[in-house]
Amino acid sequence: MRKLTILGATGSIGSSTLKVIENNPDKFQVVALAAGQNVEKMTQLCLKWQPSYAVMACDNAATELKRTLQACNLKTEVLSGVEGLCHVSSFDEVDTVMAAIVGAAGLMPTMAAVKAGKRILLANKEALVMSGQLFVDAVKQSGAELLPVDSEHNAIFQCLPSDIQTNLGHCDLSQYGIQNILLTGSGGPFRYSDLADLEHVTPEQAIAHPNWSMGPKISVDSATMMNKGLEYIEAKWLFNASREQLKVVIHPQSVIHSMVQYLDGSTLAQLGEPDMATPIALTLSYPERVQAGVKALDFTQIGELTFLAPDYNRYPCLKLAIDACYEGQHATTALNAANEVAVDAFLNRKLSFTDIAVVNSWVTSKICAMNEQVRCDSLESILEVDRMARLFATDYISERQA
Ligand code: NDP
Repeated sequence: MRKLTILGATGSIGSSTLKVIENNPDKFQVVALAAGQNVEKMTQLCLKWQPSYAVMACDNAATELKRTLQACNLKTEVLSGVEGLCHVSSFDEVDTVMAAIVGAAGLMPTMAAVKAGKRILLANKEALVMSGQLFVDAVKQSGAELLPVDSEHNAIFQCLPSDIQTNLGHCDLSQYGIQNILLTGSGGPFRYSDLADLEHVTPEQAIAHPNWSMGPKISVDSATMMNKGLEYIEAKWLFNASREQLKVVIHPQSVIHSMVQYLDGSTLAQLGEPDMATPIALTLSYPERVQAGVKALDFTQIGELTFLAPDYNRYPCLKLAIDACYEGQHATTALNAANEVAVDAFLNRKLSFTDIAVVNSWVTSKICAMNEQVRCDSLESILEVDRMARLFATDYISERQA
């Protein structure tokens, strides 16, 4: 039986993970649940799953949760802060960690799980975007088992030979005859909108993704295609892919979740319903398959599958991310941080939709222009670049508002 910590338990991926576990109660045991500040949801989860530990990143939320669980006579031990998150990610009582905290906040606990040699089910792409080489080197050193949850990377993973699946981060694609990795993306809700109208897009419109149901941050990232940009960087690190090997294709129907092309002319694809339970189930049970509670595709109902190249005028964030990927770790860390601040400002109606790209571009250029002053060769230096970029983004947004 796999023993699990679920980081981001109160979120969308957390819920899908618990749904898969519910379908397979004899195979998985929930030992620890962790989240940010949603005490109400965490209380419900603790009552249902009765984990040994519950962690809230926010101290006040942890105090409130402790009080509530005591009143319910629940024995779950409540921990708090980054320390608590790192503890339940690395202690001996678990062998598997679902890394599904949103954003940079996931870096430290995910790294703690990597260093402790756990099986990491990686949804928190931002952790890999921020720490790239350090992350994949730490995986190799500790012998951790890395399995991608993101539907695209999970699809690519399924289309790769097993030797590569067990050597993510350090594999040699060409040695196995792999020519291209095709990262598909739906293009989000505004792929057919007039470019002039994008400035007036509201948060409600941006988070209404046509095919997937996800948390608010990743939904906005999908609308700007920053999500595809972050996934591009994630794919580069996971599959050790070169610029020539990695391509983005728009596929509005989200039926094909990504593809791998081999030098003999073969293209392998993974297809399925747009439901995260499928990739989550695979990472939980790999190399076996378990019930995910998702029905197989009915090909008579799918209709047309279409594909087109991305238009960088419509999706400037995608271009920014691809450029940052080849600029270096400081650029991807800065871009990720700027984007988190910009998306938050957009969701709080302090920034227009199109200005997300403006903030991202300005902050990334500013960090890149600092040249020798920025290093990204340790977790501490990465967190320092992250901190600086957030500060620049916050100041820039305040100035634009003034
Ligand atoms: P949600 O917004 O739905 O959930 C985010 C989770 O992170 C919540 O449990 C939240 O807790 C927790 N959290 C937020 N801040 C902190 C913090 N400082 N410390 C600890 N926990 C924190 O996001 P999603 O589930 O949609 O996404 C999670 C990750 O998975 C993201 O990195 C996303 O890119 C990735 N992903 C998501 C997919 C999806 O379909 N949703 C698909 C592929 C990847 P609380 O609410 O209690 O504050």
